[in-house]
Amino acid sequence: MPDPREHSVISPSSLNCMRLCPCFRGGLSSDVAETGERIHGYFANLIKGEPLPKDADLDEVGQAEWAVSTLNNFMSQTDMHVEEQLYLIDDNTFEEIMWGYADVFGMTPRASGNIMVLADLKTGEPRDCTAQMAAYARMLCQKYDCRRVEVHVLYSRYKKDETYTLNLGDTEIIFDIIKKAQKEDRQPNFCEYCGWCSLQSTCPQTQAIITSVTKAENYDITGVGIVDWEIENANPDKLGQMYLALSWLESFADRVKSQIKQKVQDGMEISGFKRVTTTKRSIKDLPAAFTASGLSSEDFLDCCSISVTKLQKKLGRDTVDSTLGNLITTTEVVQLRRVGE
Ligand code: SF4
Repeated sequence: MPDPREHSVISPSSLNCMRLCPCFRGGLSSDVAETGERIHGYFANLIKGEPLPKDADLDEVGQAEWAVSTLNNFMSQTDMHVEEQLYLIDDNTFEEIMWGYADVFGMTPRASGNIMVLADLKTGEPRDCTAQMAAYARMLCQKYDCRRVEVHVLYSRYKKDETYTLNLGDTEIIFDIIKKAQKEDRQPNFCEYCGWCSLQSTCPQTQAIITSVTKAENYDITGVGIVDWEIENANPDKLGQMYLALSWLESFADRVKSQIKQKVQDGMEISGFKRVTTTKRSIKDLPAAFTASGLSSEDFLDCCSISVTKLQKKLGRDTVDSTLGNLITTTEVVQLRRVGE
């Protein structure tokens, strides 16, 4: 049996990506992935009635709380399995094909009888995750001898519950994806998941894109050795050169993004994108909010953040230094700066 929390090479979540590129490999860490893991942790804590970490971010906790309250609307609390490991078994050979962790599942009574309900929390952008849900559904059908699973994909950032039912026949799609991903002669396919793929720095598809865009933009990368490098093993003397040679890609992507935004705003359709409006709440009248809140000044200030730069503009730097100097803490921030700047 595999180690708990270890991921199989082909996992339910990687199927979403392998559907587009059979060579995709997960395992790339990122800030976004870490945020997702934290919110999933709070989600599990809340369901199990366990305390949350004291330093938990309120917005992240808010997303987990929304997911739990939504879950309680459609799922029985008497049979709730949280982050339980599930296996996909080959129906003919009885060999284990892969395993994964479903966020929450359980039998729930409906008017037509009991049904297996699966809930999966997504903290990022809405994407097609039918393959992943089909894998969990198949695993649940195998384990609990059922033929139908009610799926809820909970997009916590958008407070959206995407609901559908997968019958046993619908789950067959995963076998085609797995078969293609296991073929010796599988070929990489540049797709929206390259940014998540741990092969991105060596993959011929991404290398070809870098080379062709570099040529088109007239950037000289001769001697940097981009075509066959691996970041972790790269010569430290070359890392600075590599970064400079590649950093323009970020601004190139920003230019493309702003074009997409503009065109979508002008009413044009751009495949794979749509315009969404989100809201951000802020207090427009702080003194009035203080009075209305009924909080003590200490508790109210505890909810505010103060900009030292703005304070300096109001009071003057000398006043801030002489009267508030010993109340201001200084923390080290590590930044990357080019020599000579
Ligand atoms: S980087 Fe290569 S292997 Fe990875 S998803 Fe993109 S095309 Fe596929």
